[in-house]
Amino acid sequence: MGKTKHTGPMKLNKKPQPSLWAGMTPMGIGKVKPKHIRDTMKVAWENRDNARYAYRILTEGVCDGCALGVSGLYDQTLKGPHLCTTRLNVLRLNTAPAIDDKWFEDVEQLRKMDSTQLRKLGRIPYPLSRKPGEKRFTRLTWDEALNRIAAKMQAIDPKQLAFYLTARGITNEVYYTAAKVARFLGTNNIDNASRICHSPSKTALKRSLGIGAASCSYKDWIGTDVLIFWGSVAANNQPVSTKYMYAAKKAGTKIIMINPYREPSMEKYWIPSIAESALFGTKIVDDVYQVNIGGDIAFINGVMKHWFEMEEQEKGSAIDHSFVKQHTKGVEQVEVHVGALTWAEIERSSGLSRERIEEFAQLLANSKSGVFIWSMGLTQHRFATDNISQVANLAMLRGFLGREHCGVMPIRGHSGVQGSGEMGADPFVLSGGDFEPRNRERMEKLWGFPIMDWQGDTVGQSLENAHLHEEHERKLKLFYTSGGNFLETMPDPDFMQQTLEKIELRVHQDIILNTSTLVDAKEEVIILPAMTRYEQPGGGTSTSTERMVYFSPEIKGPRIEEARSEWEIYIDLAGRVKPDKKEWIQFKTVADIRAEIAQANPNYDGIQHLTEKGDLFQWGGAWLCEDGVCPTEDGKGQLFAIDLPENRRTEGQFFVTTRRGKQFNSMIYSEVDPFNDGDRYDIFINEEDARKLSIDEGVSVIAYNQYGQLQGRAKFEDVANGNIAVYWPEGNSLLPKGVYESHAKIPEYNSTVIVERADVFHAKKDQKYVENRIADLEMSAD
Ligand code: SF4
Repeated sequence: MGKTKHTGPMKLNKKPQPSLWAGMTPMGIGKVKPKHIRDTMKVAWENRDNARYAYRILTEGVCDGCALGVSGLYDQTLKGPHLCTTRLNVLRLNTAPAIDDKWFEDVEQLRKMDSTQLRKLGRIPYPLSRKPGEKRFTRLTWDEALNRIAAKMQAIDPKQLAFYLTARGITNEVYYTAAKVARFLGTNNIDNASRICHSPSKTALKRSLGIGAASCSYKDWIGTDVLIFWGSVAANNQPVSTKYMYAAKKAGTKIIMINPYREPSMEKYWIPSIAESALFGTKIVDDVYQVNIGGDIAFINGVMKHWFEMEEQEKGSAIDHSFVKQHTKGVEQVEVHVGALTWAEIERSSGLSRERIEEFAQLLANSKSGVFIWSMGLTQHRFATDNISQVANLAMLRGFLGREHCGVMPIRGHSGVQGSGEMGADPFVLSGGDFEPRNRERMEKLWGFPIMDWQGDTVGQSLENAHLHEEHERKLKLFYTSGGNFLETMPDPDFMQQTLEKIELRVHQDIILNTSTLVDAKEEVIILPAMTRYEQPGGGTSTSTERMVYFSPEIKGPRIEEARSEWEIYIDLAGRVKPDKKEWIQFKTVADIRAEIAQANPNYDGIQHLTEKGDLFQWGGAWLCEDGVCPTEDGKGQLFAIDLPENRRTEGQFFVTTRRGKQFNSMIYSEVDPFNDGDRYDIFINEEDARKLSIDEGVSVIAYNQYGQLQGRAKFEDVANGNIAVYWPEGNSLLPKGVYESHAKIPEYNSTVIVERADVFHAKKDQKYVENRIADLEMSAD
């Protein structure tokens, strides 16, 4: 799509610059900050039984942590080593031995453990089965396990079958095979982990710019005028990104954070691989805009409103007219729309003053380049697609697109998340295009079998379909999940438990156990042991946030004897379900899959040549929409006039959002957050708000609403007034079930709550009880 190629890693300017230091205390001694050396020693100790293998994974493999992307210890942005504690923490998933057989004797013993303890038991050793009421798991042969699953698949309507694939270390080849197998089996119910993180990014970028991925590369951060992190805590979730931020600061870039909570990791960071920063820390952000949870649309409307006001004073002072004229449409509607909004409503919804919004608008107007980065703070909303189209509006109006140091970037937290949709493991797309007749026909020709034309369900819808009546054609009867822990990632855990129990057969293809694996199914739970990406014969590929497709080779080392390549399991199973047609779906090696991906998805032409450690290419070139030309029908980007969302809270209510601590997605690595000393059950509240409710720091408080409650301790943090933050997934009990964003169908991960001291809450509960009893007595008297 872009003709300019990425130019490879650049040298980092390491010349000390004391003006960037976080303080004068060497190593930040006494400050609340991650202890990188201690954490690294801990990881070395944990992996001591397989130290050489662990070393080979780090030096030869492609990281299975976040999607920043690194091959061995080197990336494509900066020269020098690239390693972080997130990667080190997940390393044990790859080197752990098999779970001791004794644990499979009693499911109740396992149910007493949380997912962290279950993870520490080790790898799933062989296929297992458990039926409701059975105390122990039964060992199965692969033949027994796959035949049982195949028999069930033959017995149900394909619409009653759904697949899901997480993003944990899964390769493009596995996503592609699963997507093909699902369609071969007659179902379009296949979804992936992006549904609960970045699906709105793709939907919004597609409708605004015709692209489904980051338009620029990380190198564009370094030297851009402004780098905006919008609802994104990259320092915690993609730790090596701090090195890029350091390089950007050295090059004179201004870094801005837009977030309800002043995330400490984005304010100051001690980057271990840079001596100056490891010693004195680095001040990262230059300014923070503490927007309301859900207030981003109003904020951006305010920015655009001010730009049009600036334009009235002086034409060209805010908007890149030549870019807008040549490369976009819809500017007139946006101007009318934001012109009609009052500053009072913008301020109320955004939580920011007009002065602050204008200040930000002017900063962007005075910048010649800018990169917008965002994460869950924008995507996990019921109006997420609109949030992101608003960011695209800003980029288009300023012409920050398709050239050096400019772009839009949904930064991904999981190594598989970019590739999963691009491989077609998604109900709305097939590899290489949307789920529309022309692309379906193209894929039918390539695959040689028909693809059902009905719209598949997203994972949330599929799971809810378990509650449909017995005869319903979409009643979910078989759920096949590769990884994933729905009890801990979806809103309303109690409802999710009932949902999982209602499914007749659940298949968990995974490397470790988690709490969802232990939930009964109506008829049977089958667990299949999968290989990691480093064990997969012939290696595998994954795609980073910046569209870099990395090859990760098979790495010599110990193996879990019965674990199999995930793509092979899918093929084997498909052949058992439709033995007379199994030749339609054969792949002999993983290289055959790459060869077919190159045909299925033209952006991936080149993947077939990746065979060695370090092999990679970036699809689409350095910039999508290069020179402003978007891959839309008329080559233009679409500006959208976006209404303020319904995001009200009544007097006394707080907006609540969820945040991450020391964790890799739902896997928790420490009960204590290294950046603020927070406990997983802390409720972050502004001191001023807390005082009004007579809440002291550290007291037991309850956040509650109609969906559930969360008991924790009040922690005074710099959160925007009227907003609180809780950890994810602990706070999921406060979230509504069944509320989805209308375009991308991501569940709503925000809500409103009342916060009370626990003693007040419980006293009121007692009072309600007494009142109820009186009502009961009156009823009996009648
Ligand atoms: S920043 Fe992400 S890609 Fe880089 S080492 Fe850490 S987890 Fe892996």
